[in-house]
Amino acid sequence: MVKYKNAIFFDRDGTLIKSFYSSKKKIPIAIKYLKDFKIINNAKRVIKKLSEKYLILVITNQPDVSRRKNTKKNVLKINSRLKENLKIDDIFVSYSSNDNNKMRKPNPGMIFLAKKKYKINLKKSFVIGDTHKDIIAGKKAKCKTILLKKKYNQNLNLNPDFIIKDLKDLLKIIRV
Ligand SMILES: [Mg+2]
Repeated sequence: MVKYKNAIFFDRDGTLIKSFYSSKKKIPIAIKYLKDFKIINNAKRVIKKLSEKYLILVITNQPDVSRRKNTKKNVLKINSRLKENLKIDDIFVSYSSNDNNKMRKPNPGMIFLAKKKYKINLKKSFVIGDTHKDIIAGKKAKCKTILLKKKYNQNLNLNPDFIIKDLKDLLKIIRV
């Protein structure tokens, strides 16, 4: 009998790592370089706690790589730094900028890949992110969805299962 695990899927930029904010375009801009690396408030403590009961996975879109605006090397350096700082089991990356690519959120390909690799029960798993792409991917995979509220994601018709203002609120939603 296969023993299924429950997982928490975190988006990377804007959810675990601080992004820049373009007030002109009203969108978050992901960091490219280690010098800009800053972890979001409470991520370390909250993930440590959640990791007692859940597999902690990161699913991240990095389309700037295929757009030639960033390098895989930069992305992987930041991912390694993230793993050094937080108790993360694995990081899945989509480098595609093509919305039809099944690995690129809002498509749920990375979640299904993780499910296969780790034998995850998706219905008892959570997806957390700061954009509509994260929430849609989570819903497509039948996970519970949690939106981290930001100035750029308000007034969107998303209907996530939960909305939080700070990562520490995860401990009220997810029992460990
Ligand atoms: Mg994000």
